[in-house]
Amino acid sequence: MSGRVVIVGAGQAAVSCIAALRAGNPKCPIVLIGEEEHLPYRRPPLSKECLIGDASLENILLRPAGWFDGVDLRLGRRVEAVELGESRVMLGNGERLSYDHLVLCTGARARTLDRHDEGASAGVHVLRTRDDAARLKADLEPGRRLLVVGGGYVGLEVAAAAKARGVEVILVETGARILGRVASAFTADRIRAIHVARGVDLREATGLVALRCDGRVTSALLSDGCEIAVDIVVVGIGAQPNDELASGAGLATEDGIAVDELCRTSNRQVLAAGDCTSFSLAGRRVRLESVQNANDQGETAATTILGQPRPYKPIPWFWSDQYDTKLQIAGLAEGHDEIVVRPGRRANATSIWYFKGGQLLAVDAINDPASYMLGRRMLAAAMNPHSPDLDRMLPAGG
Ligand code: ADP
Repeated sequence: MSGRVVIVGAGQAAVSCIAALRAGNPKCPIVLIGEEEHLPYRRPPLSKECLIGDASLENILLRPAGWFDGVDLRLGRRVEAVELGESRVMLGNGERLSYDHLVLCTGARARTLDRHDEGASAGVHVLRTRDDAARLKADLEPGRRLLVVGGGYVGLEVAAAAKARGVEVILVETGARILGRVASAFTADRIRAIHVARGVDLREATGLVALRCDGRVTSALLSDGCEIAVDIVVVGIGAQPNDELASGAGLATEDGIAVDELCRTSNRQVLAAGDCTSFSLAGRRVRLESVQNANDQGETAATTILGQPRPYKPIPWFWSDQYDTKLQIAGLAEGHDEIVVRPGRRANATSIWYFKGGQLLAVDAINDPASYMLGRRMLAAAMNPHSPDLDRMLPAGG
C-alpha cells in the first residue's frame, strides 16, 4: 500500500502522476493542491491557439472535471510550508495535511526583468498561465505595436500569434541569436527567416534598456539606441523553477529541486516532477521545461511510490508552432561537432541531424514529422546512423 499521497501543483506532471498512481492502485488516497483556480490545463496552447483563436479553458483542460472524482481536489489554495519532520504540509489558511508521500509538481514561473514590475503598467505582460493568456489576448488589437522581449519559444510564438491578429511586432533578443538555449544556429536561421518574411522587425544582440509608461506603456528604449513607440510589451525571457517551497524545507535544490532518476528528492518521503526539477543527464545537470518531461517524471514518481520503480531515462522532445511552420526537436544537440542537413518530402521540409564523435545526439525537424519520428526511434534505440546512411533511410528529398 502506498498510503496517502499529497501532490502540490496542479499541472501536467500532477495529472500524469495521478493517472499512474490510479493505474497501480485504484484506491490510492490522493490530495491535489493547486494555487490556480482552474482545473489542470495544457500550457503549450497558451502562446498559440489561445491567442489566435477562440480556444476556451474547456478546450485546453487536461482532463474533464469528472476525471478527478475520488481525488481530494483543492484548487485556489497554496501550500506555504512543508514540515518534513512531521510529514505534513501547511496551507495558506494554517490548515495542515499529513502525507505518506509528498510529490512537488510546482512548475516554473516566468522570469521578469529586474527593473520593471511586469503587470504593474497596463500593456506589459508575461505569459505563463491561462489568465496571463486571456489578458494578453484582450490587448492584441489589430494595428497596435507589440514589443516582444526575448527570442525563445514563448517570444517567437507570441510574435507569430500577434502577426496573425494584425499586430505590428518588434522582437528583441539580447543574445547573439534567437533560440540560443534550445536550438542550433542552423535551425535559428530558418526560423528567423520565417519571421522576417512575415514582417517581424527582429533585432538580435539587442536588449531593452527602459520602458516609458504613462498609465499604460508608451515607448521602449532599446540598447541599439532606438526609442520606439509601443502599445504592448511581452516579456518572454525564460522561466525559473518554483523550488522555494523545497529549499525552505531544507530539501536539496540546484536550479530546481534536485531529483534522482526515480524522482526522489533528498528526503525519502518527498518526490518531485516536471519543470520544477533538475537532474543529471549525460553527465550534466539539466532542467527540462517540456510536456514530455512533466509526463514522464510524473509517471516515474508514481511508480516509485507504488514500489515498482522504473528509472527515468529521457529522450527529450519539444515542439513549437509558428505561423504554418512546425518545429520538432528530439534529443539535446549541445556539444555536437557535426551537422547533417537533409531535405524532407515536402518543399519546405528539412531535418537537421546532430552528431558528436559520430554519435547521434539530436534531430530538429522543420515541417518534417517523418524525419522527426525516425530520429526519435533511433535515439530511443541508441542507433547510430553514419551520416551517409541517412540518405538511404530518410524519405527522398524534394
Ligand atoms: P522560453 O522557452 O520561455 O521562451 P528561453 O530561455 O528559451 O525561454 O528564451 C528566452 C530568451 O530571452 C533567451 O533567448 C534569452 O537570451 C532572451 N533574453 C533574456 N533576457 C533578455 C532581455 N533582458 N532582453 C531580451 N532578451 C532576453
